[in-house]
Amino acid sequence: MGVVMSVGLTPNRPHIQETSSGTTRQQAITVLGATGSIGKSTLDVVSRHPDRYRVYALSAHTRVDELLALCEQFTPEVAILGDEKSAQRLKDLFVSKGLSTEVQCGPGALNAAASAKTVDIVVAAIVGAAGLMSTLAAAEAGKRLLLANKESLVMSGQLLMNAAKQAGALILPVDSEHNAIFQSLPATKEGVNTSGIEKILLTASGGPLRNCTVEQLAVVTAQQALKHPNWSMGPKISIDSATLMNKGLEVIEACQLFAVAADDIEVVVHPESIIHSMVSYADGSVLAQMGRPDMRTPIAHCLAWPERIQSGVEPLNFFELAGLHFEKPDTVRFPLLQLAFDAQRAGGTAPTILNAANEVAVDAFLSGSVAFLQLARIVEETLSRSKISPASDLTTIIEADKNARETATNLILSGIV
Ligand code: NAD
Ligand code: MG
Repeated sequence: MGVVMSVGLTPNRPHIQETSSGTTRQQAITVLGATGSIGKSTLDVVSRHPDRYRVYALSAHTRVDELLALCEQFTPEVAILGDEKSAQRLKDLFVSKGLSTEVQCGPGALNAAASAKTVDIVVAAIVGAAGLMSTLAAAEAGKRLLLANKESLVMSGQLLMNAAKQAGALILPVDSEHNAIFQSLPATKEGVNTSGIEKILLTASGGPLRNCTVEQLAVVTAQQALKHPNWSMGPKISIDSATLMNKGLEVIEACQLFAVAADDIEVVVHPESIIHSMVSYADGSVLAQMGRPDMRTPIAHCLAWPERIQSGVEPLNFFELAGLHFEKPDTVRFPLLQLAFDAQRAGGTAPTILNAANEVAVDAFLSGSVAFLQLARIVEETLSRSKISPASDLTTIIEADKNARETATNLILSGIV
């Protein structure tokens, strides 16, 4: 691997900016997907540092009451919901509570909150392709972009990275593995240096079904698949963790973030989720980042980088650890991991198609209309029926996403897979 400067890592903005009068001001944050698992963890960290951060905007899709509670606590300038009806309900509640937060709705409002002039930091924590446009808007507006929404990077790849580079946006990886890799690479304000790297070792817990036989996997319910042993996460990523698709998406995410090839990445199953990933160097050194499985650690790291702040997470107690274990992933029982590697190698719109088919399949599994083993078959069949094109522009990417969703939906409805 050569020297590659990650495009997301300039410029280095100080955490508290000087104003013309020489005083300091807090950084303004937009949290997209504030009511989700990452959104709430972010706000937990933010609440510990009122001197450094203030909340400009919070978004939710439909959870009006949860967004109301967050608005009461953080008094943002803007609150965003997915539709007019939910927005009206929130407006009425604000009137009765005497809150002056402006209520907006829809994708345009998300893009505006991601690119508003007064905003310094955008936390992209919407789940799935629904987060693409606002993530891109934040990159194009040159923000410090805390990227949790891995699907947007998987589907838009170089387009998002190039947009960040052009606008001088700083993409910082919230995903714990990528955050760990970032922490294990020599980073300066000009970027990360990947010279002398032998391998990126991407760790995976193996999920709740790691020890299930194929026969057991065939009858797994959504309830069982949702029970992650180490992490508390939203439903979509929890299912992706059970199928190992989450690791597959993360392989693609790592290729984009660190400008490396799929062959430079090895997935290592590490059931304890204490090591969050590692980088192996030519001289025999292996650097690892460790910590409790709590997303507040990578979130705090991204908020303050290159400084360090309190996250509310206790340090590891090594005397309490029972042991750290490692094994190879099984792509026979969990074929989605292999499909993701293959899609990354195929390039172009293949990762977009993979992601779209997976989103449709996971929704169907969560609603009980397909079985666990069908998830991989839906994705594989959608990929084999789709035309892969160069992913050079947004129109092509959105078209590939739409067509793959239609193909996957038809496969499910027709009972072909
Ligand atoms: P979640 O389901 O808990 O929360 C999702 C958030 O997105 C909610 O606020 C919801 O209101 C909002 N949302 C859902 N659909 C939307 C739509 N169509 N339009 C606008 N907003 C919508 O999900 P999560 O676990 O917090 O994950 C969020 C993202 O972060 C995902 O991309 C996931 O892969 C990534 N991520 C999560 C974790 C984790 O520990 N939870 C770790 C790494 C990466
Ligand atoms: Mg992860």
